[in-house]
Amino acid sequence: MSTPVAVDRPFRADLLTLDPPRLHGSRCPRCATTVFPPRGFCPACRSGAEPDRVALSGEGRICSFTVVRQAPPGLEVPYVLAQVDLPADGVRLMAAVVSAEPEDVVLDAPVTLETCPFGTADDGAALLGYRFRVAGPEVTA
Ligand SMILES: [Zn+2]
Repeated sequence: MSTPVAVDRPFRADLLTLDPPRLHGSRCPRCATTVFPPRGFCPACRSGAEPDRVALSGEGRICSFTVVRQAPPGLEVPYVLAQVDLPADGVRLMAAVVSAEPEDVVLDAPVTLETCPFGTADDGAALLGYRFRVAGPEVTA
C-alpha cells in the first residue's frame, strides 16, 4: 500500500484555484455586481438570490498602495500592500504586490496574479496564497 502524497493546494479553496492561478468571487444574478471575496448575498442591491461563483481576471492595475514596515513576527518587512482594480470584473481588492525593483510599484501599474507560499498544512502539503506582481520593464538580450 502506498502512502498518500500531500498535494500543494490553496490556503482557501473557495478563494483561489491553481493552474493557472485564479481568484474567485461572486456575481449577483440580478444586478451583475461582482465582489471578492465571494458572498452569499449582493451588497449592491441586497438581493438574496444565490450569487454565481465566478473566476476573476488575473490582470489588474494598482489603485492605491502603502509600504508596510512593521508586522507581526513571521512576516518579512517591508512589503507593499495595495488596492488592485480588476477592470474586466469591476472588482477592487486588497493584496500584497511584489516587483523586481521597488520603484516599479506606482499608481496605475499593471499587475498580474501569482501564487506565493502561505504556510504548511497538517498533512505536510504546501499551502499557497496569492499576490500580484508588477510587470517589469522588458528585458532585451
Ligand atoms: Zn445585486
